[in-house]
Amino acid sequence: AEVEMVRMDRLNLIGQMAASISHEVRNPMTTVKGFLQLLKSKQELKDQEYFDLMIEELDRANSILSEFLSISKTKSKTLERCNINDIVNYTLPLIQADAQYNDKLLILELNNVPYLQLDAQEIRQLLLNLVRNGFEAMESGGQLKIITYSANDEVVLAVTDEGKGIEQSVLEKLGTPFFTTKEQGTGLGLAVCHGIVSRNNGRISVETSPKGTTFYVYFKSS
Ligand code: ADP
Ligand code: MG
Repeated sequence: AEVEMVRMDRLNLIGQMAASISHEVRNPMTTVKGFLQLLKSKQELKDQEYFDLMIEELDRANSILSEFLSISKTKSKTLERCNINDIVNYTLPLIQADAQYNDKLLILELNNVPYLQLDAQEIRQLLLNLVRNGFEAMESGGQLKIITYSANDEVVLAVTDEGKGIEQSVLEKLGTPFFTTKEQGTGLGLAVCHGIVSRNNGRISVETSPKGTTFYVYFKSS
């Protein structure tokens, strides 16, 4: 069964704090990273791995802040008339590279759909987040499908994987910032997706079984 995910009010509150904190914390981090790089170049070779580790951790913290920051935006800056198929095609090289790197098969089915008012850049981010989760859900091989179609008065973007599905206990927490079941996860991908979908007047739902998972994003077309 499809489960509607509604976590918007919680996200808005967190988002407002995120905006100011992210900006303030990033600047000192950039300074620290710069000096670490400088120090690294002055150390003996055997010490350099510690510096690499510190720099990597700073980069990781920074990317968490970036994702957090993108939850916080409350309004899309640039809603423009565009076609979701063009957005998928534009993102394709990136997705294809990901697929190749992860040894996955990519299947595209782009049907004729009406134009929408969207923030194209945000929709690309949304698609990438869903696709990456799909790849990460499939242990070895497997295929990932990206489908667009129109149904009733909506345009649908669906991303289907052949992973092991999402357990009920995990399903209930989807979209909660920092919730992850992955060792290297940030738990922010779906939270970011929720923000994007809400700013672009859409809704998102998920259908899952032990054979795979589909995320559906719906946009009103009229
Ligand atoms: P992250 O990918 O960093 O863990 P996300 O917000 O993107 O954070 O996803 C949160 C969690 O939702 C994941 O850790 C995973 O348990 C679950 N999840 C998301 N997408 C899928 C999927 N396609 N198949 C199985 N589990 C998924
Ligand atoms: Mg993710």
